[in-house]
Amino acid sequence: LLFSLFREKKRRRVVEQTEKMLVDGDNGSTSDWDDRWNHLKKFLERSGPFMHPDFEPSTESLQFMLETCKILVIGAGGLGCELLKNLALSGFRNIHVVDMDTIDVSNLNRQFLFRAKDVGRPKADVAADFINSQFHIIVCGLDSIVARRWMNGMLLSLLVYEDGVLDPSSIIPLIDGGTEGFKGNARVIFPGMTACIDCTLELYPPQINFPMCTIASMPRLPEHCIEYVRILLWPKEMPFGDDVSLDGDDPEHIQWVYQKSLERAAEFSITGVTYRLTQGVVKRIIPAVASTNAAIAAACATEVFKIASSAYLPLNNYMVFNDVDGLYTYTFEAERKENCSACSQVPSDLHFSPSSKLQEVLDYLTESTSLQMKSPAITTTMDGKNKTLYLQVINLPFKLGLADGQELAVADVTTPQTVLFKLCFTS
Ligand SMILES: [Zn+2]
Repeated sequence: LLFSLFREKKRRRVVEQTEKMLVDGDNGSTSDWDDRWNHLKKFLERSGPFMHPDFEPSTESLQFMLETCKILVIGAGGLGCELLKNLALSGFRNIHVVDMDTIDVSNLNRQFLFRAKDVGRPKADVAADFINSQFHIIVCGLDSIVARRWMNGMLLSLLVYEDGVLDPSSIIPLIDGGTEGFKGNARVIFPGMTACIDCTLELYPPQINFPMCTIASMPRLPEHCIEYVRILLWPKEMPFGDDVSLDGDDPEHIQWVYQKSLERAAEFSITGVTYRLTQGVVKRIIPAVASTNAAIAAACATEVFKIASSAYLPLNNYMVFNDVDGLYTYTFEAERKENCSACSQVPSDLHFSPSSKLQEVLDYLTESTSLQMKSPAITTTMDGKNKTLYLQVINLPFKLGLADGQELAVADVTTPQTVLFKLCFTS
């Protein structure tokens, strides 16, 4: 069903071919030599035992891939670059890249193309238009869960429901790859139809942070010393000026943190602080393994090919890859979560006693494994007016003063949309 709907969508959204990628040379002309795409034609222009049951071999699929299909790749790091190479060699010529390296999560919206005509428009709207009017498939090769969730939320916000029924032409498939050292995963998401990133949020463990008391007074590891300098010493001493925040890519900054961490480590007789480790801790680097990136990128590019050509059934829907010791891989079908705060269309219930404080609600939003918000801001409607209950900068512990069943709208960096909750008082 999905595939025939997707084909219909392709017909509806014939996009003008724009610039050619560099694979075709920089003179702007295509340089298809004879038989260049023969390897693809074998998959697309004749039938085979693994072909999608509804697929009819033709020359159209290849033309669509070469001329029309537009792909947005998010992330141009280790995984992203591998993906770009695979996609280009698979015949895709309309590839846009949003590089996350220069991105601060709060700036995610700004990474999309903004033009003079967009001035004054909400940035999330501009990003939505940009994606919606242009792309057939989105591929994520990111190392940030927040950025992934934001993209997931963006695609969910583009879905069109008519009388509660999802319009399939509004679906943009998301292929998501992720690696961490020797482990990786690839998954296929049809927003609104199959499990989304937030449906399976429990799979992502929260980032490990060291307890503040350990960092401040009982360091045992070199990392504790570096964290001490990063979190406590930098804001106190402001070594490069009052409003200069620590930049992991600035060698002078890292050098300063490194020297101070050495002093701290000497105080507690801790060894192992190096410049490299300092940079690793400051930038939260998990060592990349090229072979894992290569395997995951290959899996993702294959899924893009399958979906763009409609010739094969896509991965259903989550592949796990592990080459820590030998090679271990399997796939399973991640299921949609009925009350997913991102894709369920139904406000989730928040259970609190009438005497709870707002701080408890905020703690729940950030600490719950299924929500993992970063800096939630809550608004609600009172007497027909929008009222902000909490801004991250104001920390006032006061009683809720809200009614049972009250709807709360929560904004957070993990999503471009506000998330709705219903307050349910417990006795
Ligand atoms: Zn979901």
